[in-house]
Amino acid sequence: MKTLKTQVVIVGSGSAGLSAGFELYQKKIPFIMLERGDKVGGAGKFGAHGVFAVHSKQQLDKGVTYDYADAFKGLTSYNHYFVNGELLARFLKDSGENIDRMAAMGLATTVEQSEQKAHLNDPLVYHKFNNFKSKMATWDAWPQKFEDAGNPVLTETWAVGLDYDPQAGLKGVLAKQASGEDLRIETKKVIFADGGYCGSPEMMAAKYADNDALLNLGERKADGTGIKLCAKYGANVAHNPVLFAHGCAPSLRINPMRRQSSVETLTNLPLLWVDQTGNRFVNEDIVYDFAMWANAAHNVQGQYSVILDQATLDHFRDHLVPMEDTFERQFLEPGQTPTGTVGPIPAIQADFEDAIAHGEVVKADTAEGLADKLGLPIAAFERTLKVYNQAVADGQDDTFLKPAAELKFGVNQGPFYAIKEHCAILGTLDGVAVDRNCQPVTKAGQPLKDLYIVGNNVNGLYSDGYPSYEGIANGFAFVSGWIAAAEAGKAVQEAE
Ligand SMILES: Cc1cc2nc3c(=O)[nH]c(=O)nc-3n(C[C@H](O)[C@H](O)[C@H](O)COP(=O)(O)OP(=O)(O)OC[C@H]3O[C@@H](n4cnc5c(N)ncnc54)[C@H](O)[C@@H]3O)c2cc1C
Repeated sequence: MKTLKTQVVIVGSGSAGLSAGFELYQKKIPFIMLERGDKVGGAGKFGAHGVFAVHSKQQLDKGVTYDYADAFKGLTSYNHYFVNGELLARFLKDSGENIDRMAAMGLATTVEQSEQKAHLNDPLVYHKFNNFKSKMATWDAWPQKFEDAGNPVLTETWAVGLDYDPQAGLKGVLAKQASGEDLRIETKKVIFADGGYCGSPEMMAAKYADNDALLNLGERKADGTGIKLCAKYGANVAHNPVLFAHGCAPSLRINPMRRQSSVETLTNLPLLWVDQTGNRFVNEDIVYDFAMWANAAHNVQGQYSVILDQATLDHFRDHLVPMEDTFERQFLEPGQTPTGTVGPIPAIQADFEDAIAHGEVVKADTAEGLADKLGLPIAAFERTLKVYNQAVADGQDDTFLKPAAELKFGVNQGPFYAIKEHCAILGTLDGVAVDRNCQPVTKAGQPLKDLYIVGNNVNGLYSDGYPSYEGIANGFAFVSGWIAAAEAGKAVQEAE
């Protein structure tokens, strides 16, 4: 077995891992970074668009009055007091300075209105990466800088175990390499920044009844390593599961990150949605709030159908429709203005035929035939169509209260289409209970010596799902990586 030696091991090179590495690099504390993939990154690099903060310089310059007190009280009550108050406080208090820190890392952001129509009037808290592509390039440049300063970044290398005793402390981190080699890294501290457990089929199935229906857009290399190892040595991992449900999509092939098919476009609008009982289940206007939209789908076994008829399809083919695609704003650079319209889409019929061939769309000549193909109770489905068509005709939805402007398309005459839509997830957000220094704690409240755990691995910010406070997950990942590295580094220096 190959043996290496350092002061701190960082497991994972996503948002939390990179942030931890930056802190140790600046403080000149030797570390080794392990990354399972062949490149650094994680969801922080390939996915996230921004971070939440209060009291950033940009916010102060713009006269934003929303402050720490608003955020602390807001998140505490939003989560019905299922929060780790000290951790939440430390995160929020450091969140503004984190924006400067990220800029110093080459990850500059601009505070701007939310990317979601539902949050346009929210306080200015969302800091969006100035340039998504250059964010990726910046990330990829860090390993060389770390290495030049004597800190190896080992890709295709993953942590599998610890040489650890809760009383005596940490002696080493055990890892495996894609080459087949086993590795032992003698070290004083370890920071688990490996991104949660959405890549562990066993953990996901154990926690989520609708796991099979979920569309996992998260970091699949995150298999719960850090959570499992902390649990093995006594960390408290007992709490509600918190799924990072965010948006919905027909399939991995037609997903919002690719923007390739108009089938997806139509799922991003408030058309008619039915669940597996054949009923509507939500005001479809919720499409404009990513987290709540996905929660509504998670609540109906992770899937539902978008129902439309040929006349609607033809209308989108030929007309500009004054409805906003909910993902439109996400793909704009800071300062760009959304159109708020969709269409005309000349290729729409071809897109639908392609999706029918791939099973994402079901087509039938009659409503009964569609219900049959989808396995929906026909009586309930026919009643839903009748009530919905009446609401469209009246311009008034007495049941789910969808605004009149969104009651544009009845479902009247075949052929009928159903887009099979799935709750998308960006990861998981529960894991290990920690103290304010991001050290795992036991059920008795004792911190586990020499161990730190951060980012999506941590429990304590959410009661049961992702809140409508965009950028919290990534903001917390950066800040928690910083906190853990600062605390671990301080302990290493004091010991010396
Ligand atoms: C498509 C998408 C869009 C998103 N958009 C936003 C957004 O706009 N705002 C927001 O706040 N959040 C967003 N998120 C969530 C955000 O990206 C995450 O909350 C954040 O990246 C978590 O950081 P992390 O360091 O914990 O995990 P990650 O950034 O995922 O990094 C984890 C790293 O650990 C590595 N790893 C896993 N296991 C091991 C192991 N055993 N050994 C070594 N390495 C290992 C993984 O390969 C990965 O590189 C988005 C997520 C996705 C998927």
